[in-house]
Amino acid sequence: MSDESHETTADNADGQRSHKRKPDLDTVYTINPDGSRNVLQVADVRGRWTVRKYFFYYFLIAVYVAAPWITVGGHPMVLVDIPARAAYLMGATFTNQDFHLFFFVLIGAGIGLFVATSLFGRVWCGFACPQTVFMEGVFRPIERLLEGDRIARLKRSKHGGGGAGGALRKAAKHAAYIFLSWNFAVAFMCYFIPTRTMATLVPFFGGHVTALAWCLFWTALLYFDYSWFREQTCLIICPYGRLQATLVDYDTIIIGYDKKRGEPRHHGVDTGGDCIDCRRCVDVCPTGIDIRNGLQMECIGCTNCIDACDEIMDKIAKPRGLVRFDSSRGFETGKSRLLRPRFFLYGAIIAVLATLFVMRATSREEFQVTVMRSQGLPFTIENGTIRNLYTLHLQNKTDRTRVFKVTPATGALADHVGVEYIIPQDRFEIPALGDRRLAAFVSMPMTSFVESQPFAFTITDSTGGISQDIKVTFLGP
Ligand code: SF4
Ligand code: SF4
Repeated sequence: MSDESHETTADNADGQRSHKRKPDLDTVYTINPDGSRNVLQVADVRGRWTVRKYFFYYFLIAVYVAAPWITVGGHPMVLVDIPARAAYLMGATFTNQDFHLFFFVLIGAGIGLFVATSLFGRVWCGFACPQTVFMEGVFRPIERLLEGDRIARLKRSKHGGGGAGGALRKAAKHAAYIFLSWNFAVAFMCYFIPTRTMATLVPFFGGHVTALAWCLFWTALLYFDYSWFREQTCLIICPYGRLQATLVDYDTIIIGYDKKRGEPRHHGVDTGGDCIDCRRCVDVCPTGIDIRNGLQMECIGCTNCIDACDEIMDKIAKPRGLVRFDSSRGFETGKSRLLRPRFFLYGAIIAVLATLFVMRATSREEFQVTVMRSQGLPFTIENGTIRNLYTLHLQNKTDRTRVFKVTPATGALADHVGVEYIIPQDRFEIPALGDRRLAAFVSMPMTSFVESQPFAFTITDSTGGISQDIKVTFLGP
C-alpha cells in the first residue's frame, strides 16, 4: 500500500502523529510506525445494536456484582474459599478432591467459545468479554460524560489540554475511574471472601493486609487497563483474536461491509456505490480499524460500525445494512447457511462433556477415605502374632458436621480365627469440609496367616447413613 493511501485528516488525541495515517491491513493503527501509541478518541454512536448491547452489558455487570451476595442452600451462589480449599456453586459444595471437574468446565467453555465463534464470529468479544463490557458499558460513557464527545476531546488535546477546565475534567474522570476500579475490584474479591466478611473489612481492612493488597492490586490493574491500555489488551495481549482466522469459515456470521453495494465509494450521494466515504464507521471503532478493509484480527465485533453506518444511510435515504451481520457467503451471494457439519460436531462434543460433568458432579461421594500403610516396616511380629498398622484419612466433603464410624467389614479376614482389630477411636465427628486421620491395627496369629490376604474397613457416615468399604491387604512374613 502506498504512503498516500495511509493519509487522512486528524484523528488523534495528541494531534501530532496519527493525523497522516488511516487504518490499513498492513499495520496496527493504534501503534505508530515509530512504535509509539496512537491514542484513539472513539466517537459516540447510537442505534439498535447499541441499545441491545448496553442492556446486555448492564445485565452482566448486575450479575457480576450481585452473584456473591445471593445465597443458595445457605452459601453464596458463587464462592471460592481458598483457605477452606472449597468452592460453592449454585448450592453445591466442591472440595479440592473435586478439582478434576474443572477440566470439564474449562474444556466445555473453550469448545463453547469455538462454537460461538464458528457460528457468530467474535460475539463473545463484542457482547460478553469483561474487557468490552466494562470499557464500553462503564468507562467510555464516563469519559464522554466528563470530557465531552470526540470532537471536544480532540480540540482540547490539540490546544494543550484545554487549560484549567480541561485539567479539571481529566482529574474528575480519573477520580471516577479509580473509584469504579476499586469497587469492581472489591466486587471481584467477594468471589473469594464471603460478602459478610468483606462488608466488615471495607474500607479500612483493619489487620487484613492480604485482602487489602489484593483489592489494591486489582484496582491498579483495572485502572491501568481502562484508563490507558484499553484496546491494546485485545490487540496485543488477548490470544483469542489471533485464533479467529482458524475458527471462522465462509458461513460464519461476521460484521462486514457490503463491498458489492458500497463500491465505488465516493463523496456524493447520487453516483457510484452507497458508501459516501464519510469514515463515520472508522471514527466509532474502538480498535481504530476500517471495516471496509474486510475481516481483521482487530475487529472485536462490537457492532459500533453497524449503527454508525445505518445512521448515515438513514441520513442519505439509502437502505440500512451496508455494514451488517452476514456471512462471507451472504455478502457475496446473498445466501447464508447457519447450520453446517462443524456446528453439529462441536455441539456433540459439548453435549458429551456436559453429560460427563453432570454424571460426575451428581455421583460425588459425600466423604472420601484413603488408607495408607504405616511408614517403615510393613508388619511386625511379636509373640507369634503378626501386626499391620494402617492410617485412615477421612475427608468430610459436605458443608455439615458428620459423625463417622469405622468397623471391620464382614467376610474375608474378619472370619479368620484369632484376627483382632484395634481401632482406638471408632466413632468420631468431622466438621464441615474437615478431615481426620486415625490409626487402626490389625493382628493375626502366625498360624492363621495366609499370604497377602485382602480385607476391608467399613466407614459409615452415621448422619447420612451411607457407608463405604475400603480394601487393604494384610501382609506377613
Ligand atoms: S459509515 Fe457507511 S457510508 Fe460512511 S464510510 Fe463507513 S461504510 Fe461508508
Ligand atoms: S470494525 Fe466495527 S465491529 Fe469491528 S471493532 Fe470496529 S466498530 Fe467494532
